[in-house]
Amino acid sequence: MKILDGKVVSQAVKDDLKASTVAWKEKGGKTPHLAAILVGSDGASETYVASKIKNCEEVGFKSTLLRFEAGIEEQELIAAIEQLNNDADVDGILVQLPLPKHFNEEKVINLIDPEKDVDGFHPISLGRLVQGLPTFVSATPYGIMLLLKHYNIETAGKHAVVIGRSNIVGRPMSILLSQNTNPGNCTVTLCHSKTQNLKDLCLQADIIVAALGKVSFLTADMVKENAVVIDVGITRVADATKKSGFAIKGDVDFENVAPKCSYITPVPGGVGLMTIAALLTNTFAACTRK
Ligand code: NAP
Repeated sequence: MKILDGKVVSQAVKDDLKASTVAWKEKGGKTPHLAAILVGSDGASETYVASKIKNCEEVGFKSTLLRFEAGIEEQELIAAIEQLNNDADVDGILVQLPLPKHFNEEKVINLIDPEKDVDGFHPISLGRLVQGLPTFVSATPYGIMLLLKHYNIETAGKHAVVIGRSNIVGRPMSILLSQNTNPGNCTVTLCHSKTQNLKDLCLQADIIVAALGKVSFLTADMVKENAVVIDVGITRVADATKKSGFAIKGDVDFENVAPKCSYITPVPGGVGLMTIAALLTNTFAACTRK
């Protein structure tokens, strides 16, 4: 069993980006600039946004964080997005999800200029992905593709089971794995909460991507020998032994599944770090392709 190490691979991606940014600026290019919007003070969202900002600094990007109280009016958020859309210095915009309940997330995401949609959540980005056109690929599935590529994992002709069909993870993941690319060319089964015989489907899978948000859902009896297992899940579970008071858990029962796998991602230290590396890659592309 080998670990697909998000720490090592994300660092390699960031080192490349840092060097590319220096080279780009030496040729007279502008500093790539990511703007993040955070509404409210959800603990996990605070952590994610802080990490994105810190990683921007690490690779030499500029970043801007716009913070709003949870109770702001929709109009105020709309005005902020429009201002960022019109700001020529801003290359990428992300709105940290989830938004407080009174917002319509779909409506808010649709307001982002698709040319700055570095999270890849806009319908135009997803539509272009479906058609195999150049686009901003949603950062988590994009990060997983970078991980598979780095470890040279054979995907062509393999059966991939993706558990979870959200527009930001499971669905784009299933599309990427099915495309005529490397990695790609899988035969993909996309599963969800109404899927019957999920265990039987998983047992047929060469590659399993677990993206449902249920701690230790994928157990050893659902995984065939030598499968590749990618754990997307991030759930905070109360843990008095930790300074923070919680531990981060994935969707895979790592301890018992890992011995059966050829490759597996840990949580933490796997897909989460790759998501940020992919976001930075999209931001660099947004800046340089103008
Ligand atoms: P989501 O929008 O809640 O979608 C969950 C999906 O899982 C849905 O399609 C749901 O099916 C399916 N599902 C739920 N229970 C199931 C079951 N028992 N069997 C089969 N399918 C089931 O979640 P998400 O945004 O995709 O995120 C999924 C997980 O990934 C979460 O833990 C999230 O925190 C994590 N995440 C991690 C990263 C990262 O960077 N590592 C990034 C994004 C998300 P239905 O469609 O039928 O409801």
